[in-house]
Amino acid sequence: MKIKSANFVMSNSNVAKCPKELLPEYAFIGRSNVGKSSLINMLTQRKSLAKTSGRPGKTQLINHFKINENWFLVDLPGYGYARVSKKDKKTFQKYITDYFLERQQLVCAFVLVDIRHEPQKVDLEFMEWMGENQIPFCLIFTKADKLKPKAIENHVNTYLKALLEGVWEEAPKYFVTSSSNGLGKEELLAFIEDININ
Ligand code: GDP
Repeated sequence: MKIKSANFVMSNSNVAKCPKELLPEYAFIGRSNVGKSSLINMLTQRKSLAKTSGRPGKTQLINHFKINENWFLVDLPGYGYARVSKKDKKTFQKYITDYFLERQQLVCAFVLVDIRHEPQKVDLEFMEWMGENQIPFCLIFTKADKLKPKAIENHVNTYLKALLEGVWEEAPKYFVTSSSNGLGKEELLAFIEDININ
């Protein structure tokens, strides 16, 4: 897919206020610093598209970008646990869970993890939550330029193994990416285009 246009539409913290248009939506999520803004800018060929909504005070919001006038790229910054009861029950931030549970237009979420890191509890639990709620997602490994090819393979295998030892019977579809050298860009855009058409 060729990106002809990419425009910031709105930021908000309430799924009910997201754009009313019934365009297919693809959401990007991960812990802060995982490389999400860089990946969004790499995919859309804009130097600072994601940063425009990342200005102070806008970081905890659902950010919609309209791409090629026919789909939305949604930037859901930095998830983490929110404690919801005195019993210390942990869940994810409500605006994030509401978005995933209620947004009918969502086609697929991309969960980003830094390829160099061991599987982190918060990421595994987030993916588990997505699975329990039947929210389709793919895994994106970021910053692959930091590792040599053999190490990439080892890290990916370790990650998939951790998922399969957990609740997953089947590993999710995954992409290996680098915003520094463009690795994974064409594959990711082709995947989005394919599910958009079919
Ligand atoms: P965000 O908080 O998830 O939006 O992360 P950013 O996109 O702001 O990236 C966090 C840091 O990681 C920045 O210093 C980026 O320059 C760096 N970074 C992001 N993506 C890559 C990548 O693909 N390769 C390398 N080497 N560094 C990256």
